[in-house]
Amino acid sequence: EEKEPLNFIEQIIEKDLETTHKKEDLCFRFPPEPNGYLHIGHASSICLNFGLGLRYNAPVNLRFDDTNPAKEEQEFVDAIKRDVSWLGFNWATECYASDYFQQLYDWAIMLIKDGKAYVDSQSSEAIAEQKGTPTQQGVDSPFRNRSVEENLDLFEKMKNGEAPEGAHVLRAKIDMKSTNMLMRDPVIYRTLHKSHHRTGTDWKIFPMYDWTHGESDYIEQVSHSFCTLEFLPHRELYDWFLDQIRDSSKLRPKQREFARRNLSHTVVSKRKLARLVEEGVVTGWDDPRMPTISGLRRRGYTPESIVNFANGIGVGKRDNLIDVSRLEFSVRDDLNKKANRVMAVLDPVKVIITNYPEDKTEWLDAENNQEDDSAGFRKVPFSRELYIEKEDFREEANKKFFRLKLGKEVRLKNAYIIQANDCVKDANGNVTEIHCTYDEDSLSGSGTEASMRKVKGTLHWVAIKEALEIEVRLYDRLFTVASPDTHKEKDFMEFVNPDSLEVITGYAEPSFKELHVEDKVQFQRLGYFTVDKDTTTEKMVFNKTVGLRDSWAK
Ligand code: ATP
Ligand code: MG
Ligand code: MG
Repeated sequence: EEKEPLNFIEQIIEKDLETTHKKEDLCFRFPPEPNGYLHIGHASSICLNFGLGLRYNAPVNLRFDDTNPAKEEQEFVDAIKRDVSWLGFNWATECYASDYFQQLYDWAIMLIKDGKAYVDSQSSEAIAEQKGTPTQQGVDSPFRNRSVEENLDLFEKMKNGEAPEGAHVLRAKIDMKSTNMLMRDPVIYRTLHKSHHRTGTDWKIFPMYDWTHGESDYIEQVSHSFCTLEFLPHRELYDWFLDQIRDSSKLRPKQREFARRNLSHTVVSKRKLARLVEEGVVTGWDDPRMPTISGLRRRGYTPESIVNFANGIGVGKRDNLIDVSRLEFSVRDDLNKKANRVMAVLDPVKVIITNYPEDKTEWLDAENNQEDDSAGFRKVPFSRELYIEKEDFREEANKKFFRLKLGKEVRLKNAYIIQANDCVKDANGNVTEIHCTYDEDSLSGSGTEASMRKVKGTLHWVAIKEALEIEVRLYDRLFTVASPDTHKEKDFMEFVNPDSLEVITGYAEPSFKELHVEDKVQFQRLGYFTVDKDTTTEKMVFNKTVGLRDSWAK
C-alpha cells in the first residue's frame, strides 16, 4: 500500500504518539460558533478534524462554541449539524460550551480566590487604552488590586444581573507588560442581559472565547485542538489558563494552528455572508450562489466533491486564496461519473423534418451515462418538430463550424442524421424555423451502414410535442473581483456582481418527470444541473451547477 507523505499536522500527532501520547488519548473537535451557516472554509476544518478521527480511529466532537447570546440561534445549530452530517461525518459527542457555564464559573471563582482574576469597573475604552501597544507597555487598571472579597462580591452581582450591562468585566490578572497583547489582563467575563438560545436567562455573565475554548477542550479531554493561524498568539493564553485549572492526572490539550483557506470571488466569513442575506443580495443562506455548504448543496455540489476539494488543498501554514475554478473542477469531475446525461434546449429554435410523418412519434433508446455501465438506457421521443439551440444553426459558416448549416448534415444525438435545406426568418431577420430532411436509415445504434456514416457535428435536441417547459437558473460569480474583502478603501459589498443570476425557460425531454429535488443530471453539451427545491408539480426548476469543460462531441 502506497502511503501519502504526512502533512505537518499528522507529523505533530505522530511525534506525540512516539513521546507523550497513547493512541487512546487522541481526541479532536470541530468547534463552530452557531452564528451562521457553515461555509467552504469550514469544510477544510471539518475534513481536517474528522479526517484525523478516521485516520487514528479517534473520537471527534462537534462542539458548539455558543458563548455569545447576541448572535447565536438554534436555526444555526440545526443547520450546522445537517451540513456536517451531509458531508458524511459522524461526531462522537454533540457538545455545547454553554453546558460548561457552571464549571467555567466555578473555575473563575477559583481564579479570584487565587488572586488571579479581578473585577474591572472601567469602560471598555479605558481598558483598551491602558492595554498600550505592542511597543508600549500597558498600564495597570486602578481596580487591579481589589480585595478577593470585593471581587467575589462584585462578580456575584454581575452573575445575578444586579449590575448594569457593561458596568464591570472580570479580567485575568496576568501581565500588563507582556510583549503578547493578549496576556495583558484579558477580559474573561462580561455581562450581557440577553436570552441565550440554550440557557435562556439563567446566565447574565458570559465567558469570553479564550477562557472558554481551552477549558472546553480540557473538559472534553481533546488531545489536539486545531485552529486557524490568527489564534497563534492566543496559544500562550490558552496554556496559561490550562495551568491555572488543570489537574495533572488529566490530559493536557494542545492548541496548534493551520492556515485559513479562502476562496476566490466570494467571501468566507459568517459575518459577511450574513450581510448578503440581511441586505437581500441573495435569497438566504442556502442561495445557490453562496459559498455555504447548504448553498453549494442546493447548487448541485455533492459531498464528495467538497471533501475531495478540501482534502486536495490539504493543510498549510500560510493563508491562501484558492481559485474557485478548483472547486468547480472538483464537482465536474465527480458529476461526470455520477450524473445521467439528458437533453434540454435552453435557447430554442424550431426544426421541421419535412420528410418525417406528421403524427408519428418514435421512442428512441438513449444511453444514460457512458461513464457508468450500470446507468442503463432511457427512451426519448422523436417527432417531426424539434427544438435545437439557436447557436447550433447558421445559414452560412466556415469549415470550423461543425454544427448545422444550410446544405450540410449533422447527427442528432441518439437519433438520425439530418440535413438543413432552408430556413424561415421573421421581419428582423431572426431565424424562426429550419427546414430539414432526415436520413431514415441513419438511426444511431441501428447497425446500418448509414448509421455509421461519419458526420462532423452532433447536436442535442428535444421533440416539441413531448417537451417539458422548465425554469433554469444560471449563475455567475457573486463578486466581480477575486478578493472582494481585502480592498483597502472599499466595502466588499461594492463588488457584488449585479448579474449573478439569470432565469430562463428551457425545454426538456419527458424523462425529466422522473427527477426529484437534488437529483443531478448533465444537460448534454450544456453543463451539470440539479433540481431545485422550488420545483412544484406545475414547474420544474433547475440550478446550473457548473459548465462542461469539453463537449461530448469531441
Ligand atoms: P467566520 O469568520 O466565518 O465566523 P470563524 O473562524 O469565526 O469563521 P467558527 O465557527 O469559529 O468560525 O469556526 C469553526 C472552525 O472552523 C474554527 O476552528 C475555524 O478556525 C475554522 N475555520 C473557519 N473558517 C475557516 C477557513 N476559511 N479555513 C479553514 N478553517 C476555517
Ligand atoms: Mg470563531
Ligand atoms: Mg467568526
